[in-house]
Amino acid sequence: MIVDKLGRRFNNLRVSLTAACNYACTYCVPNGKRLMKAQNELSAPALLKLTELIQEATGFEKLRMTGGDPLVTPKFEAFLLGVAKLPLEDFSLTTNGQLLLAKEDVLRASGIKRLNVSLDTLNPLRFKQIARGGDLETVLAGIERMLALGIKIKINMVPMRQSNRQDILPLLDYCLERDVELRFIELMRMGHLKADSTYQNEFFSMQQLLDEIASKYTFERTDAPFDSTAVRFNIPDAGTFGIIANESEPFCTSCTRLRLSSDGYLYGCLSNAARTYVGDLVDEPKHRALPRLQKILLSALGDKQLAFQGETTVMKFIGG
Ligand code: SAM
Repeated sequence: MIVDKLGRRFNNLRVSLTAACNYACTYCVPNGKRLMKAQNELSAPALLKLTELIQEATGFEKLRMTGGDPLVTPKFEAFLLGVAKLPLEDFSLTTNGQLLLAKEDVLRASGIKRLNVSLDTLNPLRFKQIARGGDLETVLAGIERMLALGIKIKINMVPMRQSNRQDILPLLDYCLERDVELRFIELMRMGHLKADSTYQNEFFSMQQLLDEIASKYTFERTDAPFDSTAVRFNIPDAGTFGIIANESEPFCTSCTRLRLSSDGYLYGCLSNAARTYVGDLVDEPKHRALPRLQKILLSALGDKQLAFQGETTVMKFIGG
């Protein structure tokens, strides 16, 4: 097993199935263009083969499908059903939720137990302004359906000072009422935000968020596992919420994530543009592919940073 001197190893693979997305969120896609044609993307069998090789090399136990939006690609069904057969402690996916109802059958067939839905507001107008695609009603209906099927949901919200600060408490109420965990993701300096004043104008810190929540609820901080990215809080007799505080409390020194992009690159760190193409390993016999992969993984582990700096990498290409 490859472990660095901080005890970090790759235990968590995030596979971006496609860079295409039916949204063009303001913090992710600067030009507002949705569903750009995906280029040089690997097929579902190729992504699955790479996933299996990476599992053999690292022993990772958790896998998350992401994108773009993983539900927009025809690859989704085959990849999900393939992943469901792997010896994993947990597999899940992150989606904007627009196609949850449409994909209900395959989600049920896969036996998936939990998923994360990204939702930044419950206000239809602000939804349109931020997501620039899709519609709120369909997402909410999808969430209700998944909950009725017994699939656990976490909701990811990116709180922003100007765009959706007023949605923080309504979204928290909505989640607490449904026993859904709300996870606030501090705005990250990714893609165009790396060098854009929008970032400073919109960034809403963990402390600001806690102050906002304290205007309505009392809460206490709880323990989280070593490789958890979220700081977790308990609201007595009501539920929990989490904050992924890349800026306020970076979790880089315990990060166990490895990312595989839909065009076949491995990234060891979200905050580092370094990447290595592994798509060609699919055509090699295993006895040659594995030692090559081991070397690539060692170098990818070395790419991990000590603090989150952001990167020019666009989130919809790497999957967040
Ligand atoms: N389309 C899927 C979705 O909406 O969840 C998966 C891909 S999306 C890139 C994954 C997550 O990254 C979403 O929760 C999104 O809100 C988040 N995200 C994208 N850009 C971000 C940024 N600059 N800062 C914080 N979170 C960001």
